[in-house]
Amino acid sequence: MYKIAVLPGDGIGVEIVPEAVKALQAVGKKFGLEFEFTEALIGGAAYDELGHPLPAATLELCRHSDAVLLGAIGGPKWDNLPVELRPEIGALLPLRKELELFANLRPCVLFPSLLHASTLKEEVISGVDILVIRELTGGLYFGEKKREKTPDGEKATDILTYSTYEIERIVRFAYQAARKRRSKVCSVDKANVLESSRLWRETVTKLAAEHPDVETAHMYVDNCSMQLIRNPRQFDVIVTENMFGDILTDEASMLTGSIGMLASASIGGKVALYEPSHGSAPDIAGQNKANPLATILSAAMMLRYSFDREEEAVTIEQAVRRVLEEGYRTPDLMEPGKKPLNTVQTGDLVAEYILGG
Ligand code: NAD
Repeated sequence: MYKIAVLPGDGIGVEIVPEAVKALQAVGKKFGLEFEFTEALIGGAAYDELGHPLPAATLELCRHSDAVLLGAIGGPKWDNLPVELRPEIGALLPLRKELELFANLRPCVLFPSLLHASTLKEEVISGVDILVIRELTGGLYFGEKKREKTPDGEKATDILTYSTYEIERIVRFAYQAARKRRSKVCSVDKANVLESSRLWRETVTKLAAEHPDVETAHMYVDNCSMQLIRNPRQFDVIVTENMFGDILTDEASMLTGSIGMLASASIGGKVALYEPSHGSAPDIAGQNKANPLATILSAAMMLRYSFDREEEAVTIEQAVRRVLEEGYRTPDLMEPGKKPLNTVQTGDLVAEYILGG
C-alpha cells in the first residue's frame, strides 16, 4: 500500500491532478498495486479556507506519506497578501525546505510525435533528451528578503547564499545521474559576476576531479539560455542553482513543445514530491483545456524514484506516447490535422491505454 498525499492547489492544479490520480489508479489495477490517496489543501485554496497557504495538517500529511503529488499553486487573487502568506513563499518554499527536497529533476525529452508542436525548428530539437537538475532549497529564493525606506523611495534586498555543502550534495547527485545517462555534466553559473557562483564553480571543479569518467563543462547562465535553443542536443545533464534552474527549465520546456509536457521530481529527504514544472495557469484555469501530461508524467516519476516501479512508470510513459502518436492534442500542442482533446478526455485516454485498451 502506497500512501500518497494529493495536493491539487490552485488554478489548473485542481484539473490536472485528478488526471494523474486516474493514471496511478489504472497502473494499480493493472499491476495489482494499492494506493491510498489523501487530499489536502495548499496554496491560495488553503489560505481562503484555513487562513494559511501551508496548513500544519497538510505538512503533517506530507511527512507521513510515501510520496506527494502536487498540482500548482498561486494566482492573481493572492498576489497582494503579506509576503509570508503568498502561496509560493508561504507554502511551496517551506514545503520544499521541510521535506529537504534539495534536488529538482526536470527531464526535458521530446516525444518524436511532437516534433512539429514546438516553435523551434525540427532539426534543432530532434532527439533532445536533457535532464536539468535544479538546486531547490538554497540560493536567492531562500535568502533574507527586506524592504527599507530611503529618502527618495524604497530599497529592496534579496540575499543569494550557497554553502560548499549545498553545492556538493547537488553536484554529486548530478554526477550519479549522468553516470546512468550519457556521462556529461554541464554546470551552469554566473561566475564572472557572482561570488556565490565562483564558489559553485570551484566546488564543481574539485568534484570533477573525483569523477574522471564523466565529462564536465562549465557554462555561464546567459550563454546556456542561448545554447539551449541554438543547439540543445549538446546537453546531457545540466546542474544549476535554484533561480537559474527555474528560468532555464521554462525555456527548455519549449524544446518539448509545451510547458504542459515538463514533469518534475523533487527529492532529497524521506518523502519526495512530484509536480509539473509549470504554474497554476490562471489564464486557462477552469476551462478543462490544460494539458495534464506533465502531471501524469510526474506520477510516472513517482513510481520510478519513490517506489522503484520501473515497469509501471514505463507503462504510463508509453500510454502518453501512444496518445500523442495517435494525434490527440490539448490546445497548447495543437497543430493542423490533429485531434483535439480536453483535460479530462486526455486523462481518460491515458488511463485506458495504461489498462491496455
Ligand atoms: P504558468 O506556468 O502558470 O503559465 C505560463 C503559461 O503557460 C500560461 O500561458 C499558461 O496558460 C501556460 N501553461 C502552463 N501550464 C500549462 C498546461 N498544463 N497546459 C497548457 N498551458 C499551460 O506561469 P505564470 O503564468 O507565470 O504563473 C501563474 C501562477 O502560477 C503564478 O501565481 C505563479 O507564481 C504560480 N506558479 C506556481 C508554480 C508552482 O506551483 N510550482 C510554478 C510556477 C508558477
